[in-house]
Amino acid sequence: MDYKKKQYDVVVSGGGIPGVCAAITAARDGVKVALTEQRPVLGGNSSSLALVPPHGAAALWHSRMAREGGLLEELLQEYAYRSPLADNRCIWDLILKEWCEREPNLDLYLNARLSGAEKREGRIANVTITQTSTETEFTFEAPVFVDATGDAFLSDAVGAEFRKGREGKDEFGEMLAPEKGDEKTLPSALYMLAHRRSQPAPFNPPSWVPKHEGCDHFPHRPHAVGKFAKGKFLTEDGSIIQLFWWCSLGGDRDTIKDNEEIYSDLIKESMGIWDHLKNHCTPETREALKCYEAA
Ligand SMILES: Cc1cc2nc3c(=O)[nH]c(=O)nc-3n(C[C@H](O)[C@H](O)[C@H](O)COP(=O)(O)OP(=O)(O)OC[C@H]3O[C@@H](n4cnc5c(N)ncnc54)[C@H](O)[C@@H]3O)c2cc1C
Repeated sequence: MDYKKKQYDVVVSGGGIPGVCAAITAARDGVKVALTEQRPVLGGNSSSLALVPPHGAAALWHSRMAREGGLLEELLQEYAYRSPLADNRCIWDLILKEWCEREPNLDLYLNARLSGAEKREGRIANVTITQTSTETEFTFEAPVFVDATGDAFLSDAVGAEFRKGREGKDEFGEMLAPEKGDEKTLPSALYMLAHRRSQPAPFNPPSWVPKHEGCDHFPHRPHAVGKFAKGKFLTEDGSIIQLFWWCSLGGDRDTIKDNEEIYSDLIKESMGIWDHLKNHCTPETREALKCYEAA
């Protein structure tokens, strides 16, 4: 490893949408910023690695007046211009990277994981960033650190107060909140993509895939052919199907400490759903998916 020390005005860790917006906004305000992201791409859950659509509260059609303005809208308009035909998240990754790189006050570090922090007199004095791709360990000093890791990694590392789980109705009076708060979180999810091939693509499931022979295994989960018909889940040209937002697990477990176990269970269940669609679902669904291969 090489060891380097640098000084910034602001260090942002985590390159999801909040981290990218915080870093660009600070840089545009004229301060020197470092943005560090542990993965090779920016965007967090919205990146090509996870595919969550970055629409926030303006999801789908029912609350489009809630669409974010500002920097996110600037990025989304560029995305609409560069990827007008399909929701191609690899292009989204590149727009986020380009937007960071064109800020003269912003240094972007990809493959760069925040791995520790040092406190002095009750404040964070520096953080340690390990960039695996260049085998370099950085120490960044700054007066301001932004924890945009999604999982409050920095806050936890320095012993800051934070909360996790659902608030109870007794706390903020939200009518849809549970009576009492608990530790439950959003679950982890796997989006499976199916690609259309030029010939039939049979699916022979491995032995560890759970068997879901009847549609009654998914009583509350619409999944037959109409649910991924054109205009819903398909790309415009029908070449890729994105299956299904509801394949989620683990919100009642610890989505960090149990992550590997949840991930294994999700792989099994996703393949089980695909096996159901390809080999056991309605004849129309099986026919519609005859030439599709999950990838
Ligand atoms: C199953 C599910 C479905 C969702 N559906 C939607 C939806 O349809 N539309 C919507 O708008 N929102 C949706 N959300 C919410 C949305 O994903 C989050 O609000 C958003 O991702 C929060 O952004 P974030 O930057 O805090 O976290 P993330 O998107 O997780 O980004 C955090 C980033 O920090 C990086 N990071 C973590 N630790 C470190 C470290 N130590 N060092 C460096 N980098 C680090 C991660 O690699 C990641 O890139 C969904 C969430 C879930 C879980």
